[in-house]
Amino acid sequence: MAETYDIAKAVEAQKEYCKEYAANHPEDWVSKFMAEGRGFAPVSGVCWCCHQNIYTKEGYVTINRRRTERKTEGISVERARRELTTGCPFCYRSYVD
Ligand SMILES: [Zn+2]
Repeated sequence: MAETYDIAKAVEAQKEYCKEYAANHPEDWVSKFMAEGRGFAPVSGVCWCCHQNIYTKEGYVTINRRRTERKTEGISVERARRELTTGCPFCYRSYVD
């Protein structure tokens, strides 16, 4: 299946995922904020560590806050819809703290 990249759609998709998760796991502590559509990833998609948008097609791999020349894939709309975003795909920073 082709992956598509669209920041606004991915943000929406992640919200949908969160609400669905909360509805299916009412006993889970994270469901309290996930029911409002909030997950762990920054709501705008902009990583607060490397300042790249995690929902763009490509970003620079960033290690210890230093941007490398290597590019890697961001989070697609499809992926945002099927799984919880817990970290940055570019700098690997965890959002679960
Ligand atoms: Zn990052």
